[in-house]
Amino acid sequence: MTIEIIPVGGWGEIGRNMTAVRVGDDVVIFDMGLHMPNYIALTDSEIGDTEKRTEAALKKADAIPRDEQIRDLRPLVRAIVVTHAHLDHIGAVPYLANKYNAPVIVTPFSASILRGIIKDEKLQMKNDIIELRPGQSTILDGGLKLEFVHITHSTPQTIMAVLHTPSGAVVYGNDYKMDMNPTLGKPVNIEQLRKLGDKGVLALIQDCLYAREQRKTPSEQVAKEMLKDVLLDVDSKGHALIVTTFASHIARLKSIAECGRALKRKTIFMGRSVAKYCYAAKEAGVADLFREAEILKYSRQIKRRLREIQVKGREKYLLVVSGHQGEPKSALAKMLSGFYAWRWSGGDHVIFSSHIIPADINRKQRAEMEEKLAALGVRMFKDIHVSGHSSREDLRDMLRLLRPRHVFPTHGEREMMNAFNSLAQEEKYQLGKTLHPLVVGERKTVE
Ligand SMILES: [Zn+2]
Repeated sequence: MTIEIIPVGGWGEIGRNMTAVRVGDDVVIFDMGLHMPNYIALTDSEIGDTEKRTEAALKKADAIPRDEQIRDLRPLVRAIVVTHAHLDHIGAVPYLANKYNAPVIVTPFSASILRGIIKDEKLQMKNDIIELRPGQSTILDGGLKLEFVHITHSTPQTIMAVLHTPSGAVVYGNDYKMDMNPTLGKPVNIEQLRKLGDKGVLALIQDCLYAREQRKTPSEQVAKEMLKDVLLDVDSKGHALIVTTFASHIARLKSIAECGRALKRKTIFMGRSVAKYCYAAKEAGVADLFREAEILKYSRQIKRRLREIQVKGREKYLLVVSGHQGEPKSALAKMLSGFYAWRWSGGDHVIFSSHIIPADINRKQRAEMEEKLAALGVRMFKDIHVSGHSSREDLRDMLRLLRPRHVFPTHGEREMMNAFNSLAQEEKYQLGKTLHPLVVGERKTVE
């Protein structure tokens, strides 16, 4: 039986993840994501709102995968499987899925986010959304078995997708870390991974974004301690405490709210995106942040509340806002521009619970934002964060647990792929034979 790995997006580049796997006459698609910098550039452009939300406009802007290259396989697609709710994995689904006569299979948390995107962006999607929990499996149309393996990442219910084929499992591990001590949810189930390896893994498709980092990615527990260190152990009396972090990072948001409680400050999450992710977490039974924080979705609510906060006393609140990449339309940017009529006082604290996502636009916008904050005498605490991606030594552990016959680095540019290749070679994989650094447009048959 022919088993073919087909990169569609996000191979040799970062973003717009999409991979097709062909097993005889059945094809399964893994992820359909946005290229975030290109997507944001399009969103901020002068093109009309309806026009920019079309497949043609998004493809022209290189914001979604170019799936024309698998046009020949379209009738064979049995499922579209999305590993988690980050937009570079799920965001293109409403724009591309319609042309495939297949359901979208996701965890309950990701399903809620997908429904939220469709509603907010006024999009239409005809495909069924099938919810599968981490640890569960299902039989696809055509007879192949799909399994969701629980794994840890920076958003809840992230899974490793396992497609069982007659020649062994094809494992799609695009975005995860090996967290044995997470602050929300269960640790990585090493035994389950070992069993998968014992049964036989034909191919592992592996995110190589952090393959250059010679370390183990620290647990989310470390990020929680870093937060406590700057929020609880630095004197902020009389000043504003403003944290900016990833809206999709429910575990981090929960840690921040816990700090708010310890400080006897009221925690307020601000913004549409954070509201959407908090709602999904509640709906999926992951965490109820509505009990831990006040959540404001709309700009006009935020505007009004910020005015009140300044009257009642800024030292009574812990504000969580968007803007960690310096985005000009973020709440933090609006607090700086005067849009929100926020009067900064020297000594207010701004905590960046994030790192800069390495793209020129982010570096530039963050530098501009930091310059403004510094000029106002704001105390900044940067990089209060640990990543959600595996580093070199986590990747080595995964290779040793699964012992795949073939490995494929994805989700990285050339240097990251090269770093993964050198690691795989240390683990006795051979370039071109069992190690395949493919880019978009190539296909590889494995056996
Ligand atoms: Zn991710």
